[in-house]
Amino acid sequence: MTSMNQYKLSEKVRNFISSPRKMLINGQWVNSVSGKNFNTHDPATGDVIVAVAEGDKEDINRAVAAARKAFDDGPWSSMTPTERERCMYRLADLMEQNADTLSELEALDNGKNVAIARAVDIQVAIDYIRYMAGWPSKIMGSTLPLSVPYAPGAKFLGYTLKEPVGVVGQIIPWNFPALMCAWKLGPALASGCTVVLKPAEETPLTALYIGELICEAGFPEGVVNIVPGYGHTAGAALTAHKDVDKIAFTGSTEVGKIIVKAAADTMKNVSMELGGKSPAIILPDADLSVAIPGAASAIFFNQGQVCCAGSRLFVPDSLYDQVVKGLAEVANGMKIGSGLNPENMVNPLVSQIQFDRVMGYIESGRAEGADIVAGGGRRGDKGYFVEPTILGNTNRDMKVVREEIFGPVVCVQRYKDVSEIPKLANDTIYGLGASIWTRDISNVVKIVPKIRSGSVWVNCHNVLDVAMPFGGYKQSGFGKDMGKEALDSYLETKSVCIMS
Ligand code: NAP
Ligand code: MG
Repeated sequence: MTSMNQYKLSEKVRNFISSPRKMLINGQWVNSVSGKNFNTHDPATGDVIVAVAEGDKEDINRAVAAARKAFDDGPWSSMTPTERERCMYRLADLMEQNADTLSELEALDNGKNVAIARAVDIQVAIDYIRYMAGWPSKIMGSTLPLSVPYAPGAKFLGYTLKEPVGVVGQIIPWNFPALMCAWKLGPALASGCTVVLKPAEETPLTALYIGELICEAGFPEGVVNIVPGYGHTAGAALTAHKDVDKIAFTGSTEVGKIIVKAAADTMKNVSMELGGKSPAIILPDADLSVAIPGAASAIFFNQGQVCCAGSRLFVPDSLYDQVVKGLAEVANGMKIGSGLNPENMVNPLVSQIQFDRVMGYIESGRAEGADIVAGGGRRGDKGYFVEPTILGNTNRDMKVVREEIFGPVVCVQRYKDVSEIPKLANDTIYGLGASIWTRDISNVVKIVPKIRSGSVWVNCHNVLDVAMPFGGYKQSGFGKDMGKEALDSYLETKSVCIMS
C-alpha cells in the first residue's frame, strides 16, 4: 500500500513501505507471534502507509530473552569499550548516509516538515549517537580513601566500578520518533546495556529503519531489539517483565504514573521524561523583534507537539497589544500543508485522536472566555491540520492554561509587575522548560534560580543540544536525557573493598 500524499517519495522510502514491516528480535526480522499487524498512517491524508508487525506479550518475552542473553553471556558485555565505540560510530555514519531517507520517512509517518526533520530531528539524532559513542572508553569509577575505624591496623583499598544497569526497556512517543530513539539508544549502548525498544504505535517507521542500520553496523544480535506495538499490551508487558532492569520512558505524565506503579513490583530503575506546560515570559525590557518570533516558534515548532513547548505566554500589560498583534501576524503568515513540502511550516498533527483532542481544547478555551486572536479552526477536509492558534486574555483557572494541549495553541496571560513572574511561571504541576526574554542580565540572575524547571532558556526557547542535560522537575519527570547525565542513569556503581 502506498500513501496518497501527492509528493513523490524517494525510491528508498518507496521500497521500505512496499511490504509489511517486521520487528527486530535477536538480530532477525520476524513477524509477531500472533501474526497480527497494525497500520501506520500518513497524517497529511489519513491514508495507510504500510502495515507493521504488532508485538505483544509473547514478542516482548522473546525480545527480553534475547536482550538478557546478549547482556549476560556476551558478546556485548565482553566486547572492549573501544569495540563498542566503533559499533556506535558506524551506526552514526550509516544514519548520516541515510539522513535524507530517514527525514522523508519521518515526515511521512509523523507529518512533520521534512527539511526541519533533516536539520533538527535526524541531525541531532546522529550527533547524539556520536556524542555517546565517545563515552565507553571514558567511563570511570574512583579510588576511595578508606578509614574503616573499627579495623585498626588493617589496610584497605577501596574503589568504584561503573557497570551497565542491564536490560533496558525503552518506551518512546510519536512527536520526535527518530530523535527519541537516539536519545534512548545512545546512553544505553554507550554504557553497555542491551535494549528492547517499543516505538509509538503512531510512528514506528524510523525506529525500524534505524534497526536495519543497527544490523548493518555490526552490533551483535540481541543487543537492540525493536518491538512495535501498543502501549497497553507490548508496553505494559515490557514494564512488568521480571528480567528487565530499567525502564526509560518518554511520554505523557498520565502514562508515566502507570509505568512507575507497574515497575515498582519488580523494583526497576526508572527514568521518566514526561509532559509540560512551559512558560515563555516576555519581560518589559525585551527586544520584541526577537521575542515575538521567538515566542511564536516556542509554541508552533512541530505543531506544538513538543513536551517543552512555550504554551503559556506571559506578557506585561504595557506590551500586550503589541505582542499579541505581532504574534498573530506570524501565525497568520505560516503556510499550512504537508510536511513533505518544506515550505509548509504548519503541518498536520499526528493522528485523528490528537486532532480531536486539540480541537476540543480550543473549544474549551472559547467556552471559558479566551479571545481567539488567531487561528482556532481546522484547515482542509482531510488530514489533521489545525491552524496556529492564539488564545488571548487567558487566566490561571482555565483548563487550556492548566492542562497540556500538545498542539499549536498558545495561551497568553497578562501580568503587571516583574515581581509576579516566579509565582506565575511555577503555577503548574509541570516543570520541564521555561524561557525569559529580556535585555537585562540582572533579570536573568534573579529569575532563573526561582523557576522550578529542568531547562531555562534566555532569549531563545526549545534549544536542545547533545551536551546539555534535558529533563523535568515536578510532574515532568526525573532523570535526564542528553549530556553526560543521561549516561549516568544507565550505570550502576559498585563499591569494591580489598583488605590487604
Ligand atoms: P503516551 O500516550 O504517554 O505514550 C508514550 C508511549 O507510551 C507510547 O509508546 C505508548 O504506546 C506507550 N504507552 C501507553 N500506555 C502504556 C502503558 N500502559 N504501559 C506502557 N507503555 C504505554 O504519550 P504520547 O501521546 O505518545 O506522547 C505525547 C506525550 O509525551 C506528551 O504528554 C508529551 O509532553 C510527552 N513527551 C515528553 C517528552 C520529554 O522529554 N519530557 C518528550 C516527548 C513527549 P502507544 O504506541 O500505544 O501510544
Ligand atoms: Mg504514522
